[in-house]
Amino acid sequence: MSEAEPTLGAPERVVVRYGELALKGGNRVDFERALVRNLKDALKRIAPVVIERQRGRLLVTPEARAEEIAERAARVFGVKSVSPAWGCPSDPEAIARLARAVFLDALAQLPRGVEPSMRVRSNRADKRFPMTSIELDRYLGDRVLGGIDGVRVQMDEPAIELGVDVRMEGVSVFARRIAGPGGLPVGTQGRGLCLLSGGIDSPVAAWMSMKRGLAMSFIGFHSWPYIGEASKQKVITLARSLCEWQSRARLYIVPFAPIQLAIRDRAPASYRTILYRRMMQRIASRISERDGQDVLVTGESLGQVASQTLDNLRCIELAASRSVLRPLVALDKEEIIAIARRIGTFEISNVQEPDCCTVFLPEHPVIRGVPSECERFESELDVEGLVSTAIAEVEILRIER
Ligand code: ATP
Ligand code: MG
Repeated sequence: MSEAEPTLGAPERVVVRYGELALKGGNRVDFERALVRNLKDALKRIAPVVIERQRGRLLVTPEARAEEIAERAARVFGVKSVSPAWGCPSDPEAIARLARAVFLDALAQLPRGVEPSMRVRSNRADKRFPMTSIELDRYLGDRVLGGIDGVRVQMDEPAIELGVDVRMEGVSVFARRIAGPGGLPVGTQGRGLCLLSGGIDSPVAAWMSMKRGLAMSFIGFHSWPYIGEASKQKVITLARSLCEWQSRARLYIVPFAPIQLAIRDRAPASYRTILYRRMMQRIASRISERDGQDVLVTGESLGQVASQTLDNLRCIELAASRSVLRPLVALDKEEIIAIARRIGTFEISNVQEPDCCTVFLPEHPVIRGVPSECERFESELDVEGLVSTAIAEVEILRIER
């Protein structure tokens, strides 16, 4: 090694990659715009940033704290991967010096016991650059490894992959890739209203639909005074935790006890849960029509509990005037729990608090609910009055990260 080895400060910029191949025409422009907007929104709390579009990537230049900016950007939907990076002019000599510094830094951070291997992967979008990507890879490989012993060049899964993005505007060099969540930017597919209980399932359902581009609001039904304040706090905590992924959201808290009392007093016990759920669908539909959410989302999963048989799901959705998405329909409980752990909601959901649906729970719930029976029982209730009263008493909270 030469004596005047370049030293490397903290990362200066962040390269953000997204899956553009699946996108065509106008969709792509919308996608990029929304992604830039969501990134700015998520990052501005950490530091002011400038975001440039660079053929299939975004280059984020923050005023400071690029490392934190990278970690945060890796939790924005639509982002495939993120690299904290350093920049230099578009000149082979400058790139070689920077690449060597980035490599030495990565080498020093390699965990003990990991055999040091590396490859250079250049990506040259600026065709005026005097070398092809392959030539640049070779040139940089030689320059980076010059005088260093014991590091193997390895094409497949090297311990260090040194990335070099050559763009007209300049060059970015990086050695770390943080995986993003993928999906589509929140807001590009419209707005959703997720029925959020305190359980494990519904936060996962919300996350999965947000991942596919829905901007989510939440609605929780609360049986106060039969169930305490802690259940409500739990739903608030869950909604806040989901704002890790979309910055802010609206949460509707609906007083549900009067509806449950009416159902308990007038309808057969075996139909209680289905009738509760139908009222939830009605109220959520009505609110979404008023406030502009396009679709409802629930955490129902086929066959998981008695209220989630095909017949009962049918009874429930017939009460909705919006489409109902059930992203968990085909997942096993273990698969749902694995996602909940990954997205950070499991720990919150797993604290035992009673849910409103445990109030006046029947011993033998009907398995094959019949829609006409639901309607017959509901004709004994003042459905319209109960719905309007509940909506008039809704509490609306603005949740932020
Ligand atoms: P979760 O873990 O989401 O509570 P679960 O398996 O316990 O799901 P249920 O309690 O039968 O399932 O509820 C099915 C779905 O109905 C929930 O995923 C949620 O979308 C909605 N839901 C149930 N209770 C409530 C509530 N109190 N407030 C809002 N939505 C609810
Ligand atoms: Mg539940």
